[in-house]
Amino acid sequence: MTPASFDYHAPRSVADAVKLLVDLGPDAKLLAGGHSLLPMMKLRFAAPSALIDLGKVAGLRGITQAGQEIHIGAMTTEHALLTSPLLAEKLPLLVEAASWIADPQVRYKGTIGGDISHGDPGNDHPAVMLALDASFVLTGPGGERTLKADGYFLGLYSTQARPDEILTQIRIPIPPAGSGWCYSKFKRKTGDFATAAAAVQLQMKGSTVARASIALTNVGPTPLKACKAEDYLVGKPIDDATLNEAARLAMQPCSPSHCQRGSPDYKTVIAGEMVRRALQQAHSRARP
Ligand SMILES: Cc1cc2nc3c(=O)[nH]c(=O)nc-3n(C[C@H](O)[C@H](O)[C@H](O)COP(=O)(O)OP(=O)(O)OC[C@H]3O[C@@H](n4cnc5c(N)ncnc54)[C@H](O)[C@@H]3O)c2cc1C
Repeated sequence: MTPASFDYHAPRSVADAVKLLVDLGPDAKLLAGGHSLLPMMKLRFAAPSALIDLGKVAGLRGITQAGQEIHIGAMTTEHALLTSPLLAEKLPLLVEAASWIADPQVRYKGTIGGDISHGDPGNDHPAVMLALDASFVLTGPGGERTLKADGYFLGLYSTQARPDEILTQIRIPIPPAGSGWCYSKFKRKTGDFATAAAAVQLQMKGSTVARASIALTNVGPTPLKACKAEDYLVGKPIDDATLNEAARLAMQPCSPSHCQRGSPDYKTVIAGEMVRRALQQAHSRARP
C-alpha cells in the first residue's frame, strides 16, 4: 500500500525542527530512520499531515564520553552502535542488544532515538535503557528537560515526550569496571521482534551479587523492570537455586498479550528463561 499524502520538511537545526513541530501541530510527525513510521503509514495505521525529517539536522549523531557517562545522539544508527569501539569497551550490553535488532538493512537506517521514541514494547532498546539506568534529553519550545528511562514509557506507543519535543540525546552512566552483561532474546526467525527478551547488567562482590539490573522486552504494554528479582539477588551467589527463584520473580510482572508469537502464558515462561540465561551469561562475564 502507499501512504496517504503528506508535506515534507527537512530542517537543518534542532531549533528549526522544534519550530516546525510547534507551527504544524500534533498532526506532524518526526521522521528518523523511517523503519517503524513508514510501514505504519503504508498500512494507513498512521497518516501524518507532514513529516519533519531529522536526517539533515546537525548535531544529532555521534557517541561520546562525558565524564562517567556515554552520550549518544538520537539519530545515531544501530550500525553505528554496533561498530563503536567506545561502546564495545564501556557499554557492551547496548552493542549486544543492537546486534539482535532486525537485519543489516534496518540497522543501517534505524536509529536509537526512533527505537526509543516509537514506544513499542517489542522494540529492544527500551528495556536496555531501563537496565542501564539511562536518561533522555528532550528538546522543545521551552528548552531542554532530562527524564529517566524508568517511568518514561507510559503504554503502547506512548511515552512522556510531548508532541512538540524531540528526543535529542541519550545519556547512560558507565557501569563499574568488571560488571557482567547480557541481552538474551528469543525470536522465531531472523528479523523478528522478541517473543520475550531480557537485559541484564550484573555487578559481583566476591562470589555474591552486589547489584543486578534486569529489564524485560515485549511482555507487557511497556518494557518492564524486574524489581523483585533484582532485590532478591543482592547478597546471593549465582547458582541453580537463585537463578530459578530470580526467573520466577521476574515472571511476576509480565502481562504479555496474545499474538502470533504465542499465548501470554508461553511468553511469560520464555521471559523467565531469558532472565535465567542472561543472568548466567552476565555472571560468566563479570569480574569480581
Ligand atoms: C523488518 C523489521 C524488523 C524490525 N525488528 C526490530 C527488532 O527486532 N527490534 C527492534 O527494536 N526494532 C525492530 N524494528 C524497528 C526498527 O528498529 C526501527 O528502526 C525503530 O523502531 C524506529 O527507528 P527509526 O529511526 O526507524 O524511527 P522512525 O520510524 O523514523 O520513527 C519512529 C517513531 O519515533 C518518532 N521519532 C523518531 N525519532 C524521534 C526523535 N528523535 N524524537 C522524538 N520522536 C522521534 C517518529 O515520529 C515515529 O513516531 C524492525 C523494523 C523492521 C522494518
